[in-house]
Amino acid sequence: MTLSVSARVAFVGAGPGEADLITVRGAQRLQDADVVLFDSLADPALRQLAPVARWIDVGKRGFTGVAHAPRGGGRENTGQDTINALLVKHAQSGARVVRLKGGDPSVFGRLEEELEALAAAGIECEVVPGITAALAAAAATQRPLTRRGAGRSVALTTAMTKSGDLVAGRHADTESFYMAGKQLAALSRRLVAAGWPADTPAVVVSRAGWPDQIATDHDVATLGDATVLHSGRPTVVTVGVGAAAVRGEPTEKTATAAMPQAEKATPTP
Ligand code: SAH
Repeated sequence: MTLSVSARVAFVGAGPGEADLITVRGAQRLQDADVVLFDSLADPALRQLAPVARWIDVGKRGFTGVAHAPRGGGRENTGQDTINALLVKHAQSGARVVRLKGGDPSVFGRLEEELEALAAAGIECEVVPGITAALAAAAATQRPLTRRGAGRSVALTTAMTKSGDLVAGRHADTESFYMAGKQLAALSRRLVAAGWPADTPAVVVSRAGWPDQIATDHDVATLGDATVLHSGRPTVVTVGVGAAAVRGEPTEKTATAAMPQAEKATPTP
């Protein structure tokens, strides 16, 4: 494996929300880029870091209510093969390419396929990490994912299988579920069936890292209550030890707690 600052393609984690959550190194790679292939979750303000680069929208999510970068209309469903081909084509043309991904590239980011495509074409690349949604959610809610003596393990899990089925188990003291925002009631049932006690704390955070992030407290058994409030927004669900409020934090329960972070008694620092 080669580690190089002159790699043709840099996979860069954009972070989960606002532009200033990118790393300094990621921002530098953007400044050096000729071409940026970006996802729809990335903050359009990131474009200011590379104003002369060619920005190509290859986002696949298409969440409603999420700001899309300008001039990206109609590209939300770019197929993975097309993205792979674009990466190879632009790198082979001699351009310095940044593949900008929401959160961290290594977490539910289809990085494997894109690395394989570049390796098959003999193109050198590097990966610049980013802040993944579960970490942004932990920061937003001030709920440490690990707890001394009680929470020794954290799992990042998607409840959605490749075939679109919803499955959930119990893999760690704290478990963060990605891509289940549309099926919170079903997730709740699966979690109880998997052995999580019904009163296990669960915190639902949508648009973590954005000014309009929303965080609500639930139990595993009442997760379904969060459905309407977080509907249409990228959402991460954290259950277990790391979802519990820190001692002394004012907590409110279930749907009555449903208020934007900005309006909470303890504002996000
Ligand atoms: N690579 C990304 C994850 C991409 S999968 C990362 O590291 O965060 C997309 C899923 O990530 C969404 O369905 C949602 O579960 C989660 N997600 C992404 N951005 C989010 C945000 N700002 N707030 C809450 N969840 C988010």
